[in-house]
Amino acid sequence: MNEMKEKDIKNGEISATEKNEREISAAETEKCEFSPTDVEYIRECMALAAEAEAIDEVPVGAMVVRDGVVLARAFNTRESSKCATHHAEILAIEKACESLGGWRLPGVTLYVSMEPCAMCAGAIINARIPRVVYGARDYRFGAFGSLIDLSKIPFNHIPEVVGGVLAEECSAQLSSYFKKKRTKV
Ligand SMILES: [Zn+2]
Repeated sequence: MNEMKEKDIKNGEISATEKNEREISAAETEKCEFSPTDVEYIRECMALAAEAEAIDEVPVGAMVVRDGVVLARAFNTRESSKCATHHAEILAIEKACESLGGWRLPGVTLYVSMEPCAMCAGAIINARIPRVVYGARDYRFGAFGSLIDLSKIPFNHIPEVVGGVLAEECSAQLSSYFKKKRTKV
């Protein structure tokens, strides 16, 4: 295990009180609805995340869907590609741009098993993605409600964000990965 991973894991541990306070705060900012279809897509993101885990990557999966058509599926490949930007959302956005033949992604929903970080939230805003649905909250890097909320900043484009869909299952998938990593050391 390298230094970076050790640091990531240590930073992942916050006190129960702090977590509770942040959860209440995040819940207050979310009043958006989600459908059974959204839940199905988040479950599919979890399957993509499992593919990432199978190659020893942090398990995060993402999809871009428009009118019931899946434009892109991707999972985190930061370790194997040795590239800091290869988060699941960035890779899914790149594929969706190729699929639609442009940098704007109107009418799509981006699904991801973990809350987007500031980089991915920035890419979502730049791609003019109108709607984002995510699973687990990320209290270390989350940029759509948990740590900061870039959907509340008056950028030229403001996406609708629904967080916490299958949150417990998505969180459990991530915790289980980090627990296994710890026991391997
Ligand atoms: Zn990210």
